[in-house]
Amino acid sequence: MRAVRAARPASANAARRSFGALAAVAARALEPISPTPRLEAELLLAHAAGVSRTEVIAFPQREPSGEAEARFRAALARRSDGEPLAYIRGYKDFHDVSLRVTPDVLIPRPETECVVEEALARIGVRTDCAVLDLGTGSGAIALAIRRARPAAAVTAVDASPAALAVARSNAELLGLDIRCLESRWFAGLAAARFDLIVCNPPYVRSGDRCLDGALRFEPRQSLDGGSDGLDAIRAVLSGAPPHLGAGGLLLIEHGHDQRARVVTLAGERGYETLATRRDLSGLARLVVLRRAPA
Ligand code: GLN
Repeated sequence: MRAVRAARPASANAARRSFGALAAVAARALEPISPTPRLEAELLLAHAAGVSRTEVIAFPQREPSGEAEARFRAALARRSDGEPLAYIRGYKDFHDVSLRVTPDVLIPRPETECVVEEALARIGVRTDCAVLDLGTGSGAIALAIRRARPAAAVTAVDASPAALAVARSNAELLGLDIRCLESRWFAGLAAARFDLIVCNPPYVRSGDRCLDGALRFEPRQSLDGGSDGLDAIRAVLSGAPPHLGAGGLLLIEHGHDQRARVVTLAGERGYETLATRRDLSGLARLVVLRRAPA
């Protein structure tokens, strides 16, 4: 009897605990909250087991250690509760860089990659471009620009010391030399001038229910743009002129339904809108502004 009891659960367990079986269970569990449950299940499993996703897929019969399985179940519980995958794994790929992320910083979004693309196109082949990333968070935009344009002098500012610590550690991990400075928008920048200022400001309306829903794990100050979502954009538009060199450009990311308002606000403050851009989902997302000569 004892022998039978020992043998049967062992083999049943083995089947239940294989990569393939665990990924299938997790994918089912994540169906209600994720558009890509199988992918996320495999990534969580790979993370917990310390292997690549390719290995999880290629060796479905392999079994993780007991500790790895416990880590996997804990990670799955967090993800099922709605916590973003990037916080659980502790990093996020963005443009050409992999970034450490913590709950002190917004998780870099694919739509923000269009800010990087536009910035790179505007920097072109210039070698001495001075770039400012306002509200850098993890350092995403600043570091992606610096990686692609090693000669650019990139300054990254954030009002949050905790966020700035993450940006600094990302710069160090990536071996990219950027200047990180604690500053609420332009407050700590003295008379510094830049050729290009880029900004992904908080632009979600304070009353938007997603702040307490899907976005609740991320720092509110990186998302909440006040009652109409445009407080930070107004502050940046008003503060930028003394920091823009001759012909300098200001690139601002905005919400998908804010383009017309942002263009109007910019016009009222003496900017010319050179271009507006859509993200990969086709949503208006970015304005390219230049101060009209006085
Ligand atoms: N794009 C983010 C979202 O809607 C918002 C980022 C921001 O406010 N800058 O999830």
